[in-house]
Amino acid sequence: MFCLRILVTGAAGFIGSHMCDRLLAGGHTVVAVDNFLTGSERNVAHLGDQAQFRLIRHDITLPLAVDGPLDTVLNMASPASPKDYLQHAIATLDVGSAGTRNMLELALAKGARFLLTSTSECYGDPLEHPQSETYWGHVNPVGPRSCYDESKRFAEALTMAYHRTYGLRTNIARIFNTYGPRMKLDDGRVVPSFIGQALRGEALTIFGDGSQTRSFCYVSDLVDGIYRLMQSDERYPVNLGNPDEMTIREFAERIRRITGSRSPIVNRALPEDDPRQRRPDISKARRLLGWEPRVPLEEGLRVTLDSFRASF
Ligand code: UDP
Repeated sequence: MFCLRILVTGAAGFIGSHMCDRLLAGGHTVVAVDNFLTGSERNVAHLGDQAQFRLIRHDITLPLAVDGPLDTVLNMASPASPKDYLQHAIATLDVGSAGTRNMLELALAKGARFLLTSTSECYGDPLEHPQSETYWGHVNPVGPRSCYDESKRFAEALTMAYHRTYGLRTNIARIFNTYGPRMKLDDGRVVPSFIGQALRGEALTIFGDGSQTRSFCYVSDLVDGIYRLMQSDERYPVNLGNPDEMTIREFAERIRRITGSRSPIVNRALPEDDPRQRRPDISKARRLLGWEPRVPLEEGLRVTLDSFRASF
C-alpha cells in the first residue's frame, strides 16, 4: 500500500491509539482526532514529536474542517465500555449518529475511503451462536445498553446509506471483546477489573453466576484486522475478534493463576441485558482478509498485566 494520509477519530482511546501506532509504523501520516471524553492524552503522548502525526482536540458531533487531502477516515470514536456508555448515554448516541454523519461527509468531501468500527453489541443478547455477520441480532431498543447498541446499528445503517447513495467506499468492522495495554484500569470491563482486583488483593467480582461467555482478542491482532479490512472492497460488516470462548468464571480463574493471586471470587448482580453468550464466527475475515488472531490469551494477558503493574 502507498503511504496514505489517514484521519483517525477516537485516536486517544484504547484501540484508536494502537491503530495510530500501526498506521505510523506502516509509513502513513495520521491526523488524530479526539475530544478526550473517555480517551486520554497519555495514550498518544509518545507520538507527539513525530512529523507524521498531528493531534486535533475536537468533538466530531460538530463538523470538522481538515486542511489538505485525506485518503481514509477511520471512524473509531465512541465511549465503548458499558460503564462509560451508561455514564455518557446521550454523548454515545450523538457520536454514533451526528458524529458518524460528520465523518461520512468529510470522507465524501475529500474523496476518501471510510471505515466504521462497529461492535458485537449489534447482536445484542444473541439467540444465534456463534454470531456470524448474517445474524440480525436480538437487541433491547430501550434497555440501558441501547444507547451504545442502537447508536452503532444506526451508524452501520448510515454508512451503508452513504455507500448506496454516493458510492462512497466504506467498510464496517464489528469488533468483539478486545484487551491489552492502555485499557483504563477503572473502565469497568472485565479484563482491567479482574487484573486490578487481583493486583490489589481484592475479591474478583463476577457479575451473575459467571456462566455467561466471552472471548478476548489481543489488541495487536484486532488492529491488524482493521488494517486489512480498510484495504478491502467488502462493504458489509466483518466480525473481528477471537473465537476462543470461555465462561467469565473460567476467565476469573485464569486471571488468578496468571497473577498468582489468592483473591477470593465473589458474585455481584448481573447487569441488565448482559449478553449470555458471545463468540465471533470469523470465517468471513479468514476468507476475505486472510486474517485470524495469533496472540494466545496467556501471552496477551501477561503483556497486559505487566503494563498494568507498571501503572500501579
Ligand atoms: N463482568 C464481570 N465482572 C466485572 C466486569 C464484568 O463478571 O467486574 C462480566 C460482565 O457482566 C460481562 C463480561 O464480564 O458478562 C464482559 O463484560 P465487559 O464489561 O468486559 O464487556 P461486555 O462484553 O459486556 O461489553
